[in-house]
Amino acid sequence: KKPVIAIDGYSSTGKSSISKIIADKLGLIHMDTGALYRGVTWYALQHCVSQNGQIDLNLLFSSLDKINLEFKTHEGTLVLYMNHTDISKEIRTNQVSENVSLVAKQKEVRDFLLLSQRTLAEKGGVIMDGRDIGTVVLPNADYKFFLTASIDERTNRRFLELKGLGIEADKDQVKHNLVERDKIDSEREIAPLKQAEDAIVIDNSELTKEETIELILSHIQK
Ligand code: C5P
Repeated sequence: KKPVIAIDGYSSTGKSSISKIIADKLGLIHMDTGALYRGVTWYALQHCVSQNGQIDLNLLFSSLDKINLEFKTHEGTLVLYMNHTDISKEIRTNQVSENVSLVAKQKEVRDFLLLSQRTLAEKGGVIMDGRDIGTVVLPNADYKFFLTASIDERTNRRFLELKGLGIEADKDQVKHNLVERDKIDSEREIAPLKQAEDAIVIDNSELTKEETIELILSHIQK
């Protein structure tokens, strides 16, 4: 039987790109759960902004049933569609990064996204990455990993990722956003970012992506 693998950790520790490669190697389905929270945030920024320019959370809660998020594979990469439109670039913008942690700390939003995450894992053969996968979404996962790395290393990685997407970024702003999100994500009441007791912790500050993948695989293929 194919395994169920949970990958959690701080922002920009490489969770998603690492999970994607492991999924390809082991023939698993990969779900980047951060993209779901980003998708809901993108919707909120388009449709639920009040006069003062802030997201109207109550309006968002009552609109959740209008949001249909779907992953499709396109040339080997996962593409997120919202209501049949490709939003994979939109969800990486600063505006989304700056608002996603506020949206993600809401119980209504987490409940809304929980079902599809759990349903996917029921069949087995999945690797899911996020903040609360090992603790809340898939507490019975076969393998749990928690990734961490120094803030400067993570800032560099996010900066390069954005550059690759053609999104212009300022390093200080990127760093500030990572620190801010990790803080809100760790301190929230519901499903905070934290390592599961039975997770294997990997600090990959000094490791390449390939080395991190090898390390994870060495635990799985024992
Ligand atoms: O993984 P990524 O950095 O794209 O996640 C964006 C945000 O989505 C996180 O900062 C966090 O607020 C939220 N998130 C979450 N739970 C998850 C995955 C992401 O709250 N499982």
